[in-house]
Amino acid sequence: LMQLSIPLNMIGYIYRELRQGLIDIADMFDLLSVEAEIVDAPAAAPLVVDGGTIRFEDVHFAYDPERQILKGVSFEVPSGHTVAIVGPSGAGKSTISRLIFRFYDVTSGAITIDGQDLREVQQETLRARIGMVPQDTVLFNDTIRYNVRYGRPSANDGEVEEAARMAQIAGFIESLPHGFDTEVGERGLKLSGGEKQRVAIARTLLKAPPILILDEATSALDTQTEREIQSALDVVSKNRTTLVIAHRLSTVVGADQILVLEAGRIVERGTHAELLAKDGLYASMWARQREATEAEERLRQVQEAD
Ligand code: ATP
Repeated sequence: LMQLSIPLNMIGYIYRELRQGLIDIADMFDLLSVEAEIVDAPAAAPLVVDGGTIRFEDVHFAYDPERQILKGVSFEVPSGHTVAIVGPSGAGKSTISRLIFRFYDVTSGAITIDGQDLREVQQETLRARIGMVPQDTVLFNDTIRYNVRYGRPSANDGEVEEAARMAQIAGFIESLPHGFDTEVGERGLKLSGGEKQRVAIARTLLKAPPILILDEATSALDTQTEREIQSALDVVSKNRTTLVIAHRLSTVVGADQILVLEAGRIVERGTHAELLAKDGLYASMWARQREATEAEERLRQVQEAD
């Protein structure tokens, strides 16, 4: 019976994304539990992206009418800029990325891309223009080359290798005995979370969407891996409208603007330096994260000394 409540358009989306390995199983169950069917408006037109400015105008949203999740959210991601959303768990960060994909419609207010209301565009064209680097990437049981090429099946070997290089994963791949022909996935080489995320970044570089949403992995990464992923993300988000759902503050330092979301409201906004100067929620999150990192560092030194 549950299957009957899955909107048809979502099945199409899930199927395509699963084929591309771009959503994880938890997300899929999230999607499957969606009951409201979102259909294209009769006069829906293709989304025309010219720069890709995303605007939220006083957006209210609730999954269930009893519990408001977003309570009047307004912000803009100007064409080519990077905006990061941070905030406590449950604040509504991932909900914002789901609304941009129009898995749900807003309760009131509006979301537009280059002035086009998402409720008036064809969903298929919307999703084709947005690249998503998810928290956890599903890989095919195939070669690394195949997995990277999936971003654009017509890409040649040179383009695949160039994308891997830009995503900071080529060195690792070339160190493997079979290089790009190494089999990965369940029956092949298991990649770490950080390696998988860089494969997803390489795929996205080949897809070259004008709009990018990065849902950062929550898992802790070592400093070196974190640095490599950060520089890969810098490459992929360059000159592209980018929204980062951030779980680690280290990745948002360079964003053009940081939005601090708390219980469905933006409570602070500004650059990293501006927010530190405000000495509010962001500054206290930053101080807490620094303490945690320093404690980990001390623990590592003690362990190494043993
Ligand atoms: P985290 O940092 O932990 O990932 P978040 O800020 O991304 O948190 P969201 O995933 O946007 O938070 O969730 C916001 C709230 O909405 C949470 O309280 C969550 O329980 C609720 N929620 C999320 N998805 C659904 C759903 N499909 N149905 C009902 N409530 C939901």
